[in-house]
Amino acid sequence: MTASASGHDDQVERRIREWAAAHREEIAAHLRELVEIETPSDAPETFDAFFERLAADLRDVGLETDRVAGETTGGRLEAWSPSDGDGGDEEIQFVLGHADTVWPLGTVADDPPELRDDVIEGPGTLDMKGGLTQLVFALRALEEFGVDPALPVHVLVSSDEEIGSPESKPRIRELAARANRVFVLEPASGPEGKIKIARKAVGRFTVRIEGKAAHAGIEPEAGASATEELGSVIQQLHRLTDVDAGVTVNVGQVEAGLRPNVVAPGAKAEVDVRAPTDEAATAVESKIRSLEASTPGTSLTIEGGFGRPPMEQTPGNRLLWERVQRTGRRLGFELEGTRSGGASDGNDASQHAPTIDGFGAVGDGAHQSFEYVDLDALADRVALLTGCLLDEPLPEDPEERLSGGTAGDETIGDGATDDGATDDGTTDDGETDDGATDDETIDDRTAENGGTGR
Ligand SMILES: [Zn+2]
Repeated sequence: MTASASGHDDQVERRIREWAAAHREEIAAHLRELVEIETPSDAPETFDAFFERLAADLRDVGLETDRVAGETTGGRLEAWSPSDGDGGDEEIQFVLGHADTVWPLGTVADDPPELRDDVIEGPGTLDMKGGLTQLVFALRALEEFGVDPALPVHVLVSSDEEIGSPESKPRIRELAARANRVFVLEPASGPEGKIKIARKAVGRFTVRIEGKAAHAGIEPEAGASATEELGSVIQQLHRLTDVDAGVTVNVGQVEAGLRPNVVAPGAKAEVDVRAPTDEAATAVESKIRSLEASTPGTSLTIEGGFGRPPMEQTPGNRLLWERVQRTGRRLGFELEGTRSGGASDGNDASQHAPTIDGFGAVGDGAHQSFEYVDLDALADRVALLTGCLLDEPLPEDPEERLSGGTAGDETIGDGATDDGATDDGTTDDGETDDGATDDETIDDRTAENGGTGR
């Protein structure tokens, strides 16, 4: 890589788009090969082969690589431009992805990746090996055109995102802290490829109710029914949902009682909570914690908290989104953004640097049997990522550079929609990014927040 293309060489950008489209077949073949190496989060031994393959691709385009072994997970792969020294202390643009999938070993043998018309279908294509292929080809494009990225690129590909990033999270936060901007290669939202410009905080709470057992026929008055109290708790919790404010409280799972003829001595409710901002998360959490038992003789305890902070519309995030849209327009794409109800590593990265998520492949069916990637759109996203890596660094004062000024949320108005409803349905978020993340929420809170919640 030699000449710098900052200052927007429109001609180079146009040629990059043509180059990516012309490489569609190679892009598809590469993605198929990544999918054929299975990598379930819970099979750490599978990641050596996968990361070896990916590291070779990244070294081919001039990056240094480091394979870091995991303790209980498959560890991670890092790669960086030589201009980032030994991967040390320069300001970087951080490209974040994960290699693990939700698919158990053997899925690929039963359901091998299949090229059909304009799509490639298969387990892990969309979430998110398509994003990793996109990265490899974006870096190849930089090399092909002899242009340098505007800042050193530093890549981290983890193996534990689908289980809540227990091992990679500290390193992700460390790298985000020295990033000018973060691109997260999670799948875009829906087949129309909306980019995720905000994500909700995700919390998980357990409400335990203690009552007193008694014979339901002989002396029910000696007991206190935890099941009766559970009914009241569920009602109170569900009333905390405020759809307009983007806050949802869902008692998804309950357990109660021993047998029909025993007044229930115990009950439990598992609760999923989503909130768009820190403020809303704190408010709903304090309401949950202040629940009190109303059935005489029962008591309740509440455990849990928020594990993933929200990715909010901060000035930095909004400016990055404006830049991405601008780069997209130069390449000939009108990009749409969306606010997602799901969580990813982008939630954590965005606590430290301007972050754009859902910047990976376009398709549908993540975590579902019909998972696929749209190949034309993937070529376009290769060009988009390449263009964004070439775009000038963000200034230190994003607030003043926003085209909409500091007030309001112009960016949201500018081509963004709220996907709340979509996320709860068949598309990616409710299931894609956070199905497993949620399982890990309580651990996160304990590890990071000392059990105090947030
Ligand atoms: Zn993912």
